[in-house]
Amino acid sequence: MASELKQSEANALGEYFAGREGELLSFVRALVEIESPSGDLEGNAAAVSLLAEAARNLGVDTEVTLESDRVYGAHLRIRAFGGRDADAAATLILGHTDTVHPRGSIDARPWREEDGRIYAPGIFDMKANCALALESLRACATLGLRPKNPVVILLTCDEEVGSQSGRALVEAEARRAAHVLVFEPSAPGGRAKTARKGTSSYTVRATGRAAHAGLDPEKGASAILEIARQIERLHTLGDAARGVTVNAGVVSGGTRANVVAAEARTEVDVRFSTMDDALRTEETILNLRPFDERVRLSVEGGINRPPLERSAAVVALYEHARRVASILEFELGETSVGGASDGNFAAAVGATVLDGLGIEGDGAHAAHEHINRGDIARRGALLAGLLVTL
Ligand SMILES: [Zn+2]
Repeated sequence: MASELKQSEANALGEYFAGREGELLSFVRALVEIESPSGDLEGNAAAVSLLAEAARNLGVDTEVTLESDRVYGAHLRIRAFGGRDADAAATLILGHTDTVHPRGSIDARPWREEDGRIYAPGIFDMKANCALALESLRACATLGLRPKNPVVILLTCDEEVGSQSGRALVEAEARRAAHVLVFEPSAPGGRAKTARKGTSSYTVRATGRAAHAGLDPEKGASAILEIARQIERLHTLGDAARGVTVNAGVVSGGTRANVVAAEARTEVDVRFSTMDDALRTEETILNLRPFDERVRLSVEGGINRPPLERSAAVVALYEHARRVASILEFELGETSVGGASDGNFAAAVGATVLDGLGIEGDGAHAAHEHINRGDIARRGALLAGLLVTL
């Protein structure tokens, strides 16, 4: 059972994080100045080794392990406060060390602070949050506040490209976790994310028959016309009220304007709020029938990330976080979003997940990516407050 955060503990945490802000920000700066776009092995190794070294010097008994992946680098796992005991249900903090920003971004858009905002590529999504997660362990140790559960911090290195390698680790840690706190960027206003849509992707291919468009068009069967009709049909599968969207985002085909096209294809992204909707939509897409019987259709693809549904357990975890925030004198809102994260994989194996707990800011994946300085200390205090009360 979750307990209440005492006002004296809240005050101590608030003071602790305010006092550590300078050092924390120099660490964040070092971390963002090491560029680590997904798949950049050198950048990943440097970022992970900086974090691993910091994790070993928190004044907390930690076990730091790297799980190497040949394509993306290493996933970093930090166990503390009894996190080595594989039988004890832990509080799992999820994050990632990869960014979407290619090398050179930091030279084009260096660290800068303006009007209380700190700008740098990858700072909001989510290197400042990686640093804050480590700092929360140090805060607990320094103030003598023992987390109720063992703590595991898992920072994957391929989240931005779909977690092909990190997924199994996320699932394994989530299965044994009492709660999962995902330090992905918060929504505008610093709101937590209590629901995330799931994602599927499909490629629909049409194979028709080529013919001269002028001499004997009737001998041809246009794959492009077929794909165009299928796209119209696919878009009717969307249902805004249920949170289902279907988008044919890529289309290609044909060879020349005067040839009836023999080949065409489209790539389709589907988002959904429930697994039922995911399966129902998938059933339809996998069984698409051609409008023109002379054209052959084939469909590949499937469900990638299952949805994070706003279950009663998720709401209870959010309500608890909101109470801790209010003791720390700020308002923690909630929202649901269309984008998916590793939180989706954690939820799919049955864990109770609260996502979007990261420092307030804006511009994830964009040129104006930044965090708000004024939110750093209270976010840190919130995280530490959650560790000691959950
Ligand atoms: Zn992220």
